[in-house]
Order: sequence, then structure tokens, then C-alpha cells
Amino acid sequence: MNQRTKILVIDDEVIETIALTEALSGLGEIYSCNNSCVAIQQVMHLQPDIVLLDLEMPMISGFDILAQLAELDPFTAPRVLVITSHSDHQAQERALQLGAIDFISKPVHLNLCRMRVQNHIYIINQQKSLALTKEMLFADREQLRVTLDCIADGVISTDDKGHVIYLNPVAQRLTGWSQTAAQGRFIDEVMTLYDAITKERYANPLIIALKEKRTVAMALNTQITSKHDFDYRVQDSAAPIIDSQGCVKGAVMVFQDISETLEMSVQMTYLSHHDQLTALPNRVLLYDRLAQNLARAEVGKHKLSLLLIDIDNFKYVNDALGHHIGDDVIAHIGHNLDRFACSDITVARVGGDEFAIVVPHVQKVMSVDALVSSVFDEISKPFRLGKEQYSLSASIGVSVYPDDALTIEDMMRHADSAMYKAKQHAFNSCCYFSDELQQEVDRNLVVGKTLRSALRNDALVVHYQPKYNLQSNQICGAEGLVRVQDADGKMIAPFVFIEYAEESGLIYRLGEQVLNRCCCDAKQWLESGYPIKVAVNISAKQFSDPMLTSIVAKALEKSGLPSCYLELEVTESALVDDYDATIKQLTAISKMGVSIALDDFGTGYSSLSYLRLFPLDVLKIDQSFVSDMLTNNQAFDIVHTIIQLAGTLNLQLVAEGIETQEQRVELAQLGCATGQGYLMSRPMSADEFAKLLCASEQKECKPS
Ligand code: C2E
Ligand code: MG
Ligand code: MG
Repeated sequence: MNQRTKILVIDDEVIETIALTEALSGLGEIYSCNNSCVAIQQVMHLQPDIVLLDLEMPMISGFDILAQLAELDPFTAPRVLVITSHSDHQAQERALQLGAIDFISKPVHLNLCRMRVQNHIYIINQQKSLALTKEMLFADREQLRVTLDCIADGVISTDDKGHVIYLNPVAQRLTGWSQTAAQGRFIDEVMTLYDAITKERYANPLIIALKEKRTVAMALNTQITSKHDFDYRVQDSAAPIIDSQGCVKGAVMVFQDISETLEMSVQMTYLSHHDQLTALPNRVLLYDRLAQNLARAEVGKHKLSLLLIDIDNFKYVNDALGHHIGDDVIAHIGHNLDRFACSDITVARVGGDEFAIVVPHVQKVMSVDALVSSVFDEISKPFRLGKEQYSLSASIGVSVYPDDALTIEDMMRHADSAMYKAKQHAFNSCCYFSDELQQEVDRNLVVGKTLRSALRNDALVVHYQPKYNLQSNQICGAEGLVRVQDADGKMIAPFVFIEYAEESGLIYRLGEQVLNRCCCDAKQWLESGYPIKVAVNISAKQFSDPMLTSIVAKALEKSGLPSCYLELEVTESALVDDYDATIKQLTAISKMGVSIALDDFGTGYSSLSYLRLFPLDVLKIDQSFVSDMLTNNQAFDIVHTIIQLAGTLNLQLVAEGIETQEQRVELAQLGCATGQGYLMSRPMSADEFAKLLCASEQKECKPS
């Protein structure tokens, strides 16, 4: 920028040029030319800012040079000050017409000349900085224009009266107005804003920004309707442009199209509150509705019921037909249950095969009992999926505010407990939460805690009940029966906790620990010279564990007990529950040399054909038949038949629960070889059993 000014003195008189050069010294780069013939070339070459030109020169006059300079590019042409001794107006006029801008009279007053040149240098510098400022302004403007054209927001600027000056392309699209059509129009005409919900017209924030000299945000729910009647949801703000004096010069409005974002958030809210498969409210929305209903029930002093519906045996639908069909079934049930939904009743899906219904006890809503029976009707209606026809049943648990619960959590918990209770009854059962159920829940809590702690500390207790040869009265085996010691040291019997262990899944660990313990104890007896076969009860549930076979193998391996001293007692339900898996595992276990006994025989549902298919060795006559056999003909006939059946199938027999001498004698006479019961011995600790063995000197007893 701070380039030195170039000054060229053109005069044929050398003395004049020297004098002028000296007079101008320090004002810039001074050049001189005494030959008018090369003057133009010099100008072209040096490109001076100022030329001091003598008008009266031989060969080529100053006028001719002026004329040639006038043809140069006006932006690069120098400012020419002519030096002349002419005092007439014509010469001056002519020089001015040819482009000169000033005169210096001869004889030259050097000081005045320097001051004049100085003034011209000042003007040149001003012009130069003006040009530079203009250039910078242009560049800034361009940058701004490109930025505004490129940004994704709409931008509109107006003058101080709100008349549109500029709209960027986004604003043109959202308003439907082109730059030329909108220019000069009032902002309200170009940008029509409404409340998206009430459709009321909004005051334009830009007008407020102009009036109140402050940034104004758009109201929530703002909608812009374009010239072509398209609606967009917009958000953002307007700000006034205030100059250095504090005067409002105009305003700028910046706004964004949030229609898509809003649509997406509506969609996301829907998705996060609804189940995808059934489109019913999910657990999150259920809790919300429950909260609202509870608040209303409290104010309205009415009751509120929560129904938890669980499809019976849905696992089998999934397992047998595949998850795909399972999903279709759930969608079908969801669709059917949705019929009960209305402004007062919420129907939700809360899990795999679990649904919930929230029913306020208000006049226009159907009673809970009526609803429950309608739900059963709906679920048990046969339906078709593809070629197949299906029919289902359900279990329903009900919690009622404020009868049994005051909070959402308690309602959910109580309805859940009630539903589990209902599951234990027949299919299509409904159970209301009650004090007794609460006590059962409390008991289960204690049982669960005690059992978990026993499992954690490997502190299960196993008692053994001897099995006797009914002819010789010698001990020929023992059944391991698990107990849990409570905090007071009292023994808890299995009927208290086995069911809980099965439902909670603790049965797997329990079964493994009992098996290990029994194998170790039997190994000890063997080592002490008492080869006693130990029978271990295996819950039906344990057969769902594909590791059962290897757990048995490991127990034998770890204890070192030969497999012929181990027997597993399974119930008929184990054989029926998961036929394929059970037969596979039982066959593998049997092949190891472990014998299999069918416990509680006669009480289950197994058909006789099952007995042939499973690798059974022993039938245990259930104690209910034994206890009634001498007083009830039917029981006697059953015992008789079982004994004959065992003979036909070549199975050994054990009679359970022998309490009287008469029973014992009768069973022995009927041909039952083995028995166990309080008559001979109650279950006892491992130590007591070892002492009993010792006392009864059973050394010659062989495993059966
Ligand atoms: P269970 O396998 O049929 O065992 C026989 C039950 O009858 C035992 O009850 C035993 O004490 C009882 N008992 C034996 N003799 C007589 C008698 O003369 N009269 C009467 N009234 N009862 C007699 P316990 O020990 O209470 O076991 C009950 C049930 O718990 C067992 O029936 C078995 O199904 C289950 N259980 C016991 N231990 C285990 C175990 O370790 N695992 C599994 N899964 N279940 C077990
Ligand atoms: Mg048993
Ligand atoms: Mg039994």
C-alpha cells in the first residue's frame, strides 16, 4: 500500500528539470526526461503517478504529449500538471480538454510547485485508499453473499421500516417469494406466520425486533405458509441492525425449517412408547398411563385395576412352531385385546407374551370381572394362521388400587404375583392379589433368601432314607432328600422350597449340589465297606438343561463313585414335559451305568407306552396308594397292577411310604421286593445313616 509516489518531470531545459527535481525531493521517486520524443515511452515504462509537463518543447509539444497520454487507460494514466509560460485562456482550456489537471506558471515558483505537487500526492493517496476500501468491501460483500446463499437457514433482511431488501435462496424456497418479487415489500406480506396448532396469525418477530431494538425469538409452534400454500414448521429469531449512533438501520431474520426434525421426533416418541409387533402401548407408556390413572383415581376417589395377562404355555408355541409364528400369534392376540382399549382403558404389551390392561372403576367402564371373562373369551377363540387353527388360554392377575396397592410399582408387583398364582390353577384362571398371596410372596422371599445363601455356601443338607429288602429286612439302598437349614437352625422340608427353586431357576444349582453330595457320601459308605446305591431326585425342570448328562458324569468322576451305585429318581412329568430332550439325556445317563427310577408312579399322566420307550430300571409305587391299599379296594388294585406291570416289563419295584407292619407284609406278599417308609426308618443325616449301616452290618448287601 505505502508505495512511493512516482513523479516524472518532462522539460526540454535541463536546468529547469534539475531545479524542479530538487524542489520536489523527498516527495517520492523523481524522474526527469529532457527529450520530448521519448517522453511517452518513459511514461509507459515508469508508470508515474504525476507528470510535470512543459507545454513548450521543440519537436513534440506538451499538447501532443497530452493528447497521447489521453489515450492511455484512465486507471493507469498519470495526473498531469502542465508548466507553461502561456498566460492565455485558450492554451489553458486546450490543456484541460486534453486531460491536464493543473497549471504551474513559468517562471516556476519552486516552493509553490512543491506544495501543489504535495496536494496532488495527497489526493492520489486518498484515491488509492478509496479504491482499496472499495475492493475490500466488494470482497466482503461477495463472501457474505456466497455464505448466505449456501447456508441451510433462511435469511431475510429488511430496512428500518420492515421492507424486504434481501432473501437468500432458502428463504425464497420457504416463503415462495423470489428476490425480485419480494424486494421492497413489507415483511408480513412475504413471510406469513401462524401458530401451527391454533392456526392464529403471529406477529412477525422482525417487526418487534425493529420496534423494540432487541433480538426476538419466534414463538413455539411457529408455522410459515408459503406463497404457494405449503406449510413448514420453523424456528429461530430476528435481530435489529443498529449503527454506531444507535439508530436502527434494518433487521435480519434467520429461520430454519424444522418440519422434518419435528416429524422425526414425533415418530421417535411414538416408537419409544409403542410395541413394534402389536402397535400397543409398551411398558413405558403403560407406566405413564398408570400414573395418570392413579392421580385421577385419587382425586375422583374411585378404584383402579391393573390386569396382567400371560398366555399359557406360550413357550411351546414358540418352541414348536418357531418364533416367526410366535410373533404372528402375539400380533393376533394384541389385535384382539386392543378391542378393549378406549379413552378410559389402556391395553399394553409389557413383555414377550404378557399384556396389561388398566381399568378405572368408573361408571361408564365395564366391570373388571366382565372384562376378565371377555379377555378369556377373546384369547380362547380359535384362530387360523396359514393352514393351522390355534386356540390359546391365559392366566390373569389383578391388583386393585387402593385395596392392595397405592403405587405403580406395587400394582405391577401384585398383579404379577397374582398372575403367577393364577398360573398354578387351571388354564384361563384369574387371581386377585390378596393378603394370603402377600404372605406367600413374603414367605417366598424368605425361602429364596435362605435357599440362595445355602447354595452360595454349599450348605444344603441331605438326609438319607434307607430302602429295605422287604424279605430280608436288610438295607439295600438309600434315597437322598434335600433340606435347607433356616437362620434359626430349623430344617426346612423340600415341599417349601422345591417349587420355588424350580420357578426361580435355582433348581439347577440345587440339583447339582445334591448330586455331588450324594455321590460323595455313597463313595464314603463304599469305602467303609457298605456298597449302598444312592437314589437322587431329579426335577423335571433339570432335563431342560442340556448339561445334565455331563453334570452327572462329573459328579461320578469327582467323587470316584462307580456308576452302578447311583440311581436317578425322575417323575412322570419329566418324561412328558420335553419328550425328545429327556429321552436323549436319560439314554445317555443310563448308558453310563446309572439306573433310572420312576418316582411317585401312578400319580402322573404317563401312558404305558412311555414306560417301554424310556430306559427305566425301577418303578416306585407312590405312597398315596401304599397308605390306602388296605382300606381302599381301588388303591389295592392299583398296587397289585403296578406290581404285575413291573414284572411284565422286567422292572424292579420300590414301595414308598410304608407306615404299618400290615402294609409291609402285604406288599412283600404281593411280590414287591423293596420298600421305604417311616415304619422302617425316617430320613436321617449322613452321619446317622452311616451309624445305622454300621449297626445293621450290611456288608453283604449287593447293589440291585
Ligand atoms: P419323594 O422323592 O417321593 O420322597 C419321598 C418323600 O416321602 C420324602 O419327603 C420322605 O421323607 C417322605 N416319606 C418317606 N417315608 C414316608 C412315610 O412312611 N410316610 C410319609 N408320610 N412320608 C414318607 P421329603 O423329604 O419331604 O421330600 C418330599 C419330596 O421333595 C420328594 O418326594 C421329592 O419329590 C422332593 N425332593 C426331596 N429332595 C429332593 C432333591 O434333592 N431334588 C429334587 N428335585 N426334589 C427333591
Ligand atoms: Mg424320590
Ligand atoms: Mg416319591
